[in-house]
Amino acid sequence: MADVKPYWQNYIDGAWVHGGAGRIDVTDPATGERIAEHALADAADVDRAVGAARRVHLSGALTAMRPIERGRMVQAMGRYLLDHKDEIACILTLEQGKPLWESHIEVEGAALYFEYYGNQASTVEGRSIPLGAGYMDWTEYEPFGVSAQIIPWNYPVEMTARTLSAALATGNTCVIKSPEMTPLTNAWLARAAEAAGFPPGAVNVICGLGRAAGAALAGHRDVNQIVFTGSVPTGIAIATAAARNVVPCVLELGGKSAAIVYDDADLDAFENDIRWGIYFNAGQVCSAMSRVIVHESRHDELVERAEKVAKSLSVGPGIERTEFGANMGAMVSDGQRDRALGMIARAEEQGARIAAGGRKPNRPGAFLEPTVLSGVTPDMDIAQQEVFGPVLSVLSSREDAQAIEIANGTDYGLVAGVFTADLDRATLAARQLRAGQVFVNEWYAGGVETPFGGYGKSGYGREKGREALWNYVQTKNIAIRLKG
Ligand code: NAD
Repeated sequence: MADVKPYWQNYIDGAWVHGGAGRIDVTDPATGERIAEHALADAADVDRAVGAARRVHLSGALTAMRPIERGRMVQAMGRYLLDHKDEIACILTLEQGKPLWESHIEVEGAALYFEYYGNQASTVEGRSIPLGAGYMDWTEYEPFGVSAQIIPWNYPVEMTARTLSAALATGNTCVIKSPEMTPLTNAWLARAAEAAGFPPGAVNVICGLGRAAGAALAGHRDVNQIVFTGSVPTGIAIATAAARNVVPCVLELGGKSAAIVYDDADLDAFENDIRWGIYFNAGQVCSAMSRVIVHESRHDELVERAEKVAKSLSVGPGIERTEFGANMGAMVSDGQRDRALGMIARAEEQGARIAAGGRKPNRPGAFLEPTVLSGVTPDMDIAQQEVFGPVLSVLSSREDAQAIEIANGTDYGLVAGVFTADLDRATLAARQLRAGQVFVNEWYAGGVETPFGGYGKSGYGREKGREALWNYVQTKNIAIRLKG
C-alpha cells in the first residue's frame, strides 16, 4: 500500500496552513481504517481564502493577461495532473474506494477539462452592436470575480477540475471547498495551479464541514458566484445563501435517470450500458442509469442479462483492482452503503424482487453487491429516490408513450437514455424526455465538450461544453457617442 502522508493541510493564499476547526479523519472505505488526517477550515479560514482570492481578482493579475496566455496556464494544470497521475490515482482509490483503474480514468478526465477550457480561454468574445452613425457599441465578457466551488465526494478530482478549469480560463479567482470525506486528492489541484504560475491567492483549496466552512463560503459577502455540485437539500441551502447576497449560482444536483429500452433494442450491446451505467464508481454517479424502463416483451430477457452483468463483477478493495475489468470497489462509506441497503429493503417491502445482489458481502469495508431489482413500479420509493449506489431498478412498459411518462415521472431530470434500432423513434423520445442530456444507444455518450446539467430538481445552469463558460462571466455593454 502507498505510504500516505499522515497530515494534509489547506491551501490559502499560496501557503499550506492548519485549519481553525482542527482536523478530520480520512478513512479508507475498503478497510474502515484511518489513512490520514486533514486540516478542517473554520469561518475565519474561509474569510482569509475569500480575501486572498478577492485581492488577486482586484489586482487584475488574471484579467489583464491575454486570454491565450491564461489558457496556456490552465492547460499546464492538466499536464501537471497527468504527470502525477499514479500518485493521485492511488490516494483517490484509498480515500474514495473506486478501483485503481477507475481512478486513473478520473485523473485523465480531470486533465481533459484543463485542456479543453484552456483552449477555450481566447474564444470568449463580445460582439459589436450597430446603433447608427453616432455610436460605437460593443459587449465584453468579464469574470464575476471570486468563484466559490463546493465539491462532492464521488469524483473529487474531476468535479473540482470541471469548475476550476472554466473559472480560471475566464479569469476568475477561486475558493474550492473540498469534500470532507475525500479531501486529499484536491491538494494536487492547488499544486497544479502553483506549478502553472497562478499567483498566490488565485486558487485556494480548503476542506471543511459543509454546515460550517461550506455554509460560511456560500454565504460570504465577497463571493461573486457559486458553483455547487451535490445533493438537493444542500443545493437549496446554497441557492438561498446566494440569493441573500444576490449572486448567481449553478446547481448540479442528483438524478433518478432512466434508460428506455424499446422492443427493437440491441440487448447484447445494452449489457455494456448496464455495466457502465450503474456499476461504474459503484453507482455513485449523479447521472447513473438507475432505472431501466423496458418494453414488456423484452423484460425477462433484460433482467436475466442485468443479473449476469451484476454477478460478473468481482467486488473488493479498489487498490487491488489495478486493471480495467469486471470489478467494482467499495462505496465511499459504511453510512452510504447502509443507506442503500435500507432502500433495497424498503423496495422489497413494497413488492420489488431482488434479481441479483442486495446484500453486503461477508467482509469488512463499505461494500455492496451489484444489485438488480425487478418488478419495480413507478410509485415505489426506489423508483423515485436517488440511491447513489450500485442498484438498478427495472420497470416495464407496454408502449412508447407510457415509457416516456414513467421516465419523466420523478422530480429529477438530469439525463435519460433511449435504446432502439429506430432513429425516428429515438429522436421523438429524446425530444419528449425531460432531461438536460439524452443518450441514444450508449449511456454516457458525450464528453467534456457536451453541455451537462439538469431539468427540475437536478438543478440549473450547465457545466461542460461552451455553455459552462457563461456561468463564469457577466456581460458588459460599452456605448460611445461619436463626435461629428
Ligand atoms: P452533499 O450535498 O451532502 O455535499 C456536497 C458538498 O456540499 C460537500 O462539499 C459538503 O461539505 C457541502 N455542504 C454540505 N452542507 C452544506 C451547506 N449547508 N452549505 C454549504 N456546503 C455544504 O452531497 P454529497 O453527498 O457530497 O454528494 C452526493 C450528491 O451529489 C448526490 O445527490 C449526487 O447526485 C450529487 N452529485 C451531482 C453531480 C452533478 O454534476 N449533477 C455530480 C456529483 C454528485
